[in-house]
Amino acid sequence: MILNRKLWERSGHWDHYKNNMYTTVIDDEDYAIKPMNCPGGMLVYASEPHSYRDLPLRMGELGLVHRHELSGALHGLFRVRCFTQDDAHIFMTRDQMKDEIKNVVKLFDEVYSLFGLSYQIELSTMPEDHIGTPEEWEENQNILKNAITEMGKTFIINEGDGAFYGPKLDFHLEDSLGRTWQCGTIQLDSQLPERFELEYTGADGQKHRPVMIHRVVLGSIERFIGVITEHFAGAFPTWLAPVQVKLMTITDRTNDYADSVVAKLDALGIRCEVDKRNEKIGYKIREAQGQKIPYMLVCGDKEAENGQVSVRTRTGKTKTMSVEDFADAICREVESRSRDLFITE
Ligand SMILES: [Zn+2]
Repeated sequence: MILNRKLWERSGHWDHYKNNMYTTVIDDEDYAIKPMNCPGGMLVYASEPHSYRDLPLRMGELGLVHRHELSGALHGLFRVRCFTQDDAHIFMTRDQMKDEIKNVVKLFDEVYSLFGLSYQIELSTMPEDHIGTPEEWEENQNILKNAITEMGKTFIINEGDGAFYGPKLDFHLEDSLGRTWQCGTIQLDSQLPERFELEYTGADGQKHRPVMIHRVVLGSIERFIGVITEHFAGAFPTWLAPVQVKLMTITDRTNDYADSVVAKLDALGIRCEVDKRNEKIGYKIREAQGQKIPYMLVCGDKEAENGQVSVRTRTGKTKTMSVEDFADAICREVESRSRDLFITE
């Protein structure tokens, strides 16, 4: 979390990113709280020898980073000063770059389609403040362009908006209201491997320098939660809902029955809660509906007697069914990651 100034000087962050970094002094030496996971990733790669047979080497982490954003720029979950990235650094030979970029794009397609999010791709090119020669930048930009074009995808160019160490592809997700959010990125980098003198042993027995991709899929996990909350307007598909089922008792007499239903669903991995408060059932339903919990199960005397539950969806559909039938149906819905509730009328 806290790394010595020398490391940040070596990575270039001290010169090019210092305004966004929190720094501290320990035993008269400067340290910075990491704003990016990259330099730590370089140290991990360098901690043991590598052969060309190991490449591409893909190393992922859920990295907690801190960035100093201006207070006026902070915005809910969308722009915060402390967040977790689903980050990875992929080390490879130059020949492997294009295929590896395509693999990452396939991963993006798999993840984003699960949430029903479409995207636009932007290619960000060399910024004014950069390291590396214009020729290296040009070459890396072409590799990104070719990978995307060969996959039959289109992109727009965002002139001068690359990271200081390399060009990048940004994936701007479009939510259900047509707003766009930048989440995934793929950044090509030949600078950090150079600065950290990373090596692998080639088939020729000689030492070579790998190149690297930085990539995030969700980006900031906090921000992504904000994006999908807006996208689904809080009504998450059942597989994603924090609470999938809310049980409600009508009278204290059915508390034990409700507990037994919770135990059954819980054993199947269904996230459920029970509301035993001494409140009117209409009030309990309105509250759960406001929280957009997919299924409410009302347990009265009749249901307890017959081993049934009165199911009510957040959209107001109702059905009385056996506990077993309900459990089967919700498990199927969750496993298929359906975006629709199983009771539709
Ligand atoms: Zn990185």
